[in-house]
Amino acid sequence: MSKAQQTVLEINLKSLEHNYTYLRSKLKPSTKFMGVVKAYAYGSDSVKLSQKLVALGAEYLAVAYAEEGVVLRDAGIKVPILVLHAQTVSFDTIIDKCLEPTIYSERILKGFVIAAKNKGQKNYPIHLKFNTGLNRLGFDESDITSIIAHLNQTDAVKVTSIFSHLAASEDLNEKEFTVNQIHKFQKIITKIDNALPYATFKHLANTSGILNYPEAHFDLVRSGIGINGFGNDQSEDQKLIPIATLKTNISQIHHLAANESVGYNRAYTSNKKIVSATLPIGHADGIGRIYGNGNGFVSINGKTAHIIGNTCMDMIMVDVTDIECNEGDEVIIFGPSSSATKLAEQARTISYELITGISQRVKRVFVEK
Ligand SMILES: *Cc1c(COP(=O)(O)O)cnc(C)c1O
Repeated sequence: MSKAQQTVLEINLKSLEHNYTYLRSKLKPSTKFMGVVKAYAYGSDSVKLSQKLVALGAEYLAVAYAEEGVVLRDAGIKVPILVLHAQTVSFDTIIDKCLEPTIYSERILKGFVIAAKNKGQKNYPIHLKFNTGLNRLGFDESDITSIIAHLNQTDAVKVTSIFSHLAASEDLNEKEFTVNQIHKFQKIITKIDNALPYATFKHLANTSGILNYPEAHFDLVRSGIGINGFGNDQSEDQKLIPIATLKTNISQIHHLAANESVGYNRAYTSNKKIVSATLPIGHADGIGRIYGNGNGFVSINGKTAHIIGNTCMDMIMVDVTDIECNEGDEVIIFGPSSSATKLAEQARTISYELITGISQRVKRVFVEK
């Protein structure tokens, strides 16, 4: 097989299956699984991942914004899709595409009920989100009375689920805070169950919630980073497999004399001879300038090569002085054997930001082995 001469993000659907199976093994058989495929399924491909997740048995999918759900519906995906951040401008789209909105405030509830009525809907599925400490989106417990009063006036919508979101499920130093969030959620559930004449399902846990708080699984769990192969924890990372490998090839090798500079603004100079390799990936692909000047690194023939000089828009240069390599050789930026978490740490960020930031210019390819 000839080497790819292009930067690609290779997505391994067998690894996705492994991650899904591992996460599912943590759940009671009755607990449902929602694959969170927002932001191009964390930078991979929302349609391909959704199709695979549905084939594996995921009962629900979630996206952040309505347009992301439209892409899935247009690709023929039939399972229920939760829109985590429903916005007034997207209510009609949500209904037209049979997406299910998160209702997180009085304003959104009123507006959505009107939109559902206008479209002649009855019992349109909605999901009520409560704020239990993240302070991002959600009703307060004290809103329950007015929510119920509003719901009692209409049959255009029907509550399918009640949910909340954990703020620090990956951080065991914040265990007390998380346990308090779980208790707050339980109180909310009791009040809603007493007030609504029909049953709803409940959910709270993201990936780290699945792994660290079995008591927070309720009826369904929501996983995004976990299916992508990251456990927000060293020992959990061992059990998961990152599904994405960002790889490229060496475009050119330069043998530089002492005191020659590399790249824009002559940001790098060495007082000795070095060998540099130029790679076809830059800040427009998601490897930001923060990774330049020695911060970031890639792997070539199993050895670490640091980025030298400033990251360019379309290229980076790496130091291969001590690495045996040739033009055309494969370069791994991150993947199962080159942790994206570690690379992200060099930029004082987390795997989530690095993987979701790989731009759409990078071709996605899929393997299933
Ligand atoms: C993104 C998101 C998730 C997924 O979180 P992971 O940590 O990636 O598993 C779950 N729930 C909500 C509300 C989210 O916004």
